[in-house]
Amino acid sequence: MKGYKTVIGLEIHAELSTKSKLFCGCDTTFGQSENTAICPFCMGMPGTLPNLNKKAVELAVKAGLAFRCDIQKISSFDRKNYYYPDLPKAYQITQFFRPIALGGGLEIFDKFIPIERIHIEEDAGKLYHKGENSLADYNRCSVPLIEIVTAPKITSAKMARAFAERVSRVLSYTQVCDCKMEQGSLRVDVNVSVCPEDSNTLGTRTEIKNLNSFRAVEHAIEAEAKRQIALINGGQRVVMQTLHFDDVKGKLTVLRTKEERVDYRYFPEPDIPNIELNDEYIENIKKSLPRLPHQVEKTLVEEYSLSTQAAEQISEERATAELFEAAALSTQNIKTLTSLFITELPRIKRANNKPCLLIPQEIACLCNMVKDRKINNNAAKEIFEEMFLTGKKALELAEQKGFLISVTQGDIELAVKEVIEQNPVAVKQYVDGSQKVFGFLVGQIAKKFNGAADPVKIREILEKALNK
Ligand SMILES: [Zn+2]
Repeated sequence: MKGYKTVIGLEIHAELSTKSKLFCGCDTTFGQSENTAICPFCMGMPGTLPNLNKKAVELAVKAGLAFRCDIQKISSFDRKNYYYPDLPKAYQITQFFRPIALGGGLEIFDKFIPIERIHIEEDAGKLYHKGENSLADYNRCSVPLIEIVTAPKITSAKMARAFAERVSRVLSYTQVCDCKMEQGSLRVDVNVSVCPEDSNTLGTRTEIKNLNSFRAVEHAIEAEAKRQIALINGGQRVVMQTLHFDDVKGKLTVLRTKEERVDYRYFPEPDIPNIELNDEYIENIKKSLPRLPHQVEKTLVEEYSLSTQAAEQISEERATAELFEAAALSTQNIKTLTSLFITELPRIKRANNKPCLLIPQEIACLCNMVKDRKINNNAAKEIFEEMFLTGKKALELAEQKGFLISVTQGDIELAVKEVIEQNPVAVKQYVDGSQKVFGFLVGQIAKKFNGAADPVKIREILEKALNK
């Protein structure tokens, strides 16, 4: 918006991929029947004690290292006190005074966005509504989360979206979080303020909570910046508020107005000892880190001469990037390989909600068959889809489907002769100088062989015949 700049900070909540909860043994699997994965501790019964999940600490450290944060040798938990029906204990256990990781950051659009802190905390339950009743499901109580807090250094809605997407990719690569936003395992809160372009003083900020798609992150920020600028231009002031964004309607609604800061009366959690980590522990986790998305992207560009865009798309999921690289080891035909991964693979995944059964060597074999002109490109696409769904071998499928090019020179010459006789008008147009009909004639000939004839050969023979 002209004359104003937008300043954005993000708080990203990611559920850690542990089997059990942060302080008790309850199962964290998503989608269980309401209130079946609970115990006296996560229900806040008096006299119960927390028992810290070591795997959660390991995953939080892993995330911290992946974002180049300083892992704190000593961190601790605190109680954040508030009353709400989704929180039976009436306090949330979080890390307020001493989080597990500080500093770090990520590059987005050639700009370094600093991360201020990463802390571990427990999730709250879920409220849902049936008719006139509000019901509580406590299965999510005490599910482990990390919260990643950025500095307010993001300057556009697009940049915020790209940042959140990149964080999600890093968390998936490192298997810290499954990042299923539709299930709520990754949620984003955004802080937005606007100020005159030449000003260095931040405007009053508002917070939009619980955005559960990247699209919503972008759209909510755009809508909120617009709303704030309209207020200022209308002579009003922006009030510190917490908002909700409805992505379907594109509408912001006020959840609560914070005239003063809510007092959560944070104090150290007396029932959990400090987390104390030594160098060896941190070093071992560092060694276990996989290649991160930006490193994979760089490899794809440098080793296989992919465009940045293609590399970004293929490295979106770690398994896809690994499959591409494994296949590339056994074929020189990177062009076909790339095009199968960029256009076919996403289409196949969208069309069939099935697991990928592709085998790298067979993908390479398929690309080699295209290179050796044993099959054409369209056949390769169809075989690729079958391979994805059935795990069958490329050559076997090509034979089964009759895609192997076994048409002789004589077969093509005969077909060319026929098509020329059957299409006198098109032939005359060609002779009169129209190049357009050439493709049409090639198509007519190819049809006779069901795509099994080499198109390059067809063109050669047709051109010769026409020029007579
Ligand atoms: Zn429990």
